[in-house]
Amino acid sequence: MVNETHPYAQADIVSVSELRQWSYCPRVVWYGRSMGDYRPTSGAMKAGIDAEAERQRLETRRGFSQYGITAVDKRFQFSVRSDSLGLAGRIDCLIETTDVTFEEAQAGLRPNEWNWDDPLFVPVEYKTTFRVQQKHNVMQLAAYARMLESLTGTAVPFGFIVMLPEEEVLKIEISSEIKRSLDFLIEEVQRGLVSDELPRPTPHSGKCQNCEFRRFCNDVW
Ligand code: SF4
Repeated sequence: MVNETHPYAQADIVSVSELRQWSYCPRVVWYGRSMGDYRPTSGAMKAGIDAEAERQRLETRRGFSQYGITAVDKRFQFSVRSDSLGLAGRIDCLIETTDVTFEEAQAGLRPNEWNWDDPLFVPVEYKTTFRVQQKHNVMQLAAYARMLESLTGTAVPFGFIVMLPEEEVLKIEISSEIKRSLDFLIEEVQRGLVSDELPRPTPHSGKCQNCEFRRFCNDVW
């Protein structure tokens, strides 16, 4: 059962997965934190983890033609944390477009004859859904782009979402509008984490059909 004490501490860092989940339904984050290791795992979640692992295995042997960009390296399950943004997460695949690594960029190194408009880093997320352009997926990618910008001081104007298992690649431009939505979402989640009240349920009841927390939402069902 859900703990009666409030599960959040004010100083908590929000994970990017939680940011995405909050955008999907705020209660999913609340229940997830309350239950910790006892959180139920659905068959769909396990299938998604397997599909992402298989994509990573295949991707290590491939170049960058599928993304339509020139690049140098890919790094998988890349952990990032930004205390200034209050966010942490793990990017499925981080593309480095030049010889300058993420760590070198953090230290201030830049390629020769580099233009500010040329991105050095591109985040890639793998998703096992056809509706990848749903807001919660775009917010997750935008959060990684924002963290990479904040940590390296370089522009990250776009990222990719790979739809599994077909492996179709979708380029997502991180527009000003998306950045504004992300700022609003981060603020909403951070406010929600210190509130005493159970967050609102999603207004889209279709999301509840296969939700692992459905049995806890007595006021919805
Ligand atoms: S059952 Fe619906 S309202 Fe409750 S946590 Fe799941 S998606 Fe949100």
